[in-house]
Amino acid sequence: MEYTAVIGLEVHAQLQTDSKIFCGCSTRFGQEPNVNTCPVCLGMPGVLPVLNKRVVDYTLMMGLATHCRIAAESVFARKNYFYPDLPKGYQISQYERPICEEGWVEIPVQGGARKIRITRIHMEEDAGKLVHEGGGGAASLVDLNRAGVPLMEIVSEPDIRSPEEARAYMQTLRDIVVYLGICDGNMEEGSLRCDANISIMPAGSETFGTRTEIKNMNSFRYLAQALEYEIQRQTEVLEDGGRIIQETRLFDSAKGVTASMRGKEEAHDYRYFPEPDLVPIRIDPEWVDRIGAEIPELRSEKIARYVQDLGLPEYDAEVLTGEPGTARFFEDILAHGVEPKKVSNWVMGEYTRLLKDKGMETARISPEQVAGIIRMVDASTVSVSGAKQVFEEVFLTGKDPDAIVREKGLAQVSDEGAIEEEIKAILEANPQQVEQYRDGQEKVLGYFVGQVMKATRGRANPRLVNEILIKKLKGE
Ligand code: ADP
Ligand code: MG
Ligand code: ZN
Repeated sequence: MEYTAVIGLEVHAQLQTDSKIFCGCSTRFGQEPNVNTCPVCLGMPGVLPVLNKRVVDYTLMMGLATHCRIAAESVFARKNYFYPDLPKGYQISQYERPICEEGWVEIPVQGGARKIRITRIHMEEDAGKLVHEGGGGAASLVDLNRAGVPLMEIVSEPDIRSPEEARAYMQTLRDIVVYLGICDGNMEEGSLRCDANISIMPAGSETFGTRTEIKNMNSFRYLAQALEYEIQRQTEVLEDGGRIIQETRLFDSAKGVTASMRGKEEAHDYRYFPEPDLVPIRIDPEWVDRIGAEIPELRSEKIARYVQDLGLPEYDAEVLTGEPGTARFFEDILAHGVEPKKVSNWVMGEYTRLLKDKGMETARISPEQVAGIIRMVDASTVSVSGAKQVFEEVFLTGKDPDAIVREKGLAQVSDEGAIEEEIKAILEANPQQVEQYRDGQEKVLGYFVGQVMKATRGRANPRLVNEILIKKLKGE
């Protein structure tokens, strides 16, 4: 039998605030264990949480960017469970009254786009991290630097139909948060991760099957692999006449399989109730308007504009917008009035290559300098290969491109008289080849071009060399 997969994702995004959600502790990553803590995030008795307003701003921004309805009043809730990385014994989250509901995003699919509905977006605090020392469970330590770091959870409707779509959806959310500047989108560090819910049903059916939930996926590739595996596994269970049991599973990336972590019977009963230590969050229309006005052009909009208004190929538009920093650099060069496709070629080519080869995060070269180098090529002041040398040097040092051209003697000879002199001398020294050309062996032209370039150490303007050579050879 043919089956259709039904997938819904719960995505956690760490918000890029300087301080935690309910206290003033730093959110900095990679610190010594437990240095970013205070009585509030350590869960000491008698302390009171104070909400970080920026967390609300950011979540609101995400809600608007994903077409959600913003709740005029929303509340925090306590999600009770015991685990050593959660010092209070409960997590402050949102439950019945989240800040954003009923939104959607569009994901690219083969030959078009699909809408994936968003059920809700809410704010919550992260838990700490357990560090298991010595094999065999000799000891477990706890690092609470992450306890209280702000998270935004984005829950989708079960609208996703394949692992590829799940990946595209995750990528779309990453693009949005990264362009909004509210999350760094770093999946390896866990700043963006998801739980994937998946079931299968006979193709054509409208009744969803029983789902399993795969916890904590932190890479696009693993997400797709885990879902592929789970579709396969669930299909085999049903084909063998078995039943899918609702359970939480973990993906083992080394083995490429999912395994049961806990069943429905062991599922937590969180006993949610409204958080008594925090007042409801009221958001007035002015607040919504103010945040709405801060939303920048998003990646999907940029791609459309680059293709439609700048006439760039779709491929270029996708590469240039892969990271907001690259798109910004591209647009800053463009602002100097140079041709978009030329800028694109330099940014996708030399710029990207050098960043990678030199292992650098940012280049010394300024947008203005890139524009200047493009103009030098346009004006035939330097050859393309000369321009690449200049580019690399400016990229590494930030030095003035004109000075580099002078120092390295890269200026292209575009003086017709000088080129003509060289050509005359070369033709006189090679009468045999001249004869051959005049007898119809036109490929000898290449030989002459080579000779002129050699004589000028590659600096002669190739267009002029060709023009003048042909004229002279034809005896004009
Ligand atoms: P819970 O509260 O147990 O996490 P939710 O109803 O909030 O459950 O759903 C969690 C996620 O599971 C959502 O993203 C939703 O789209 C998805 N989901 C719900 N039912 C199914 C199903 N039958 N198959 C696949 N995914 C589902
Ligand atoms: Mg869930
Ligand atoms: Zn703290």
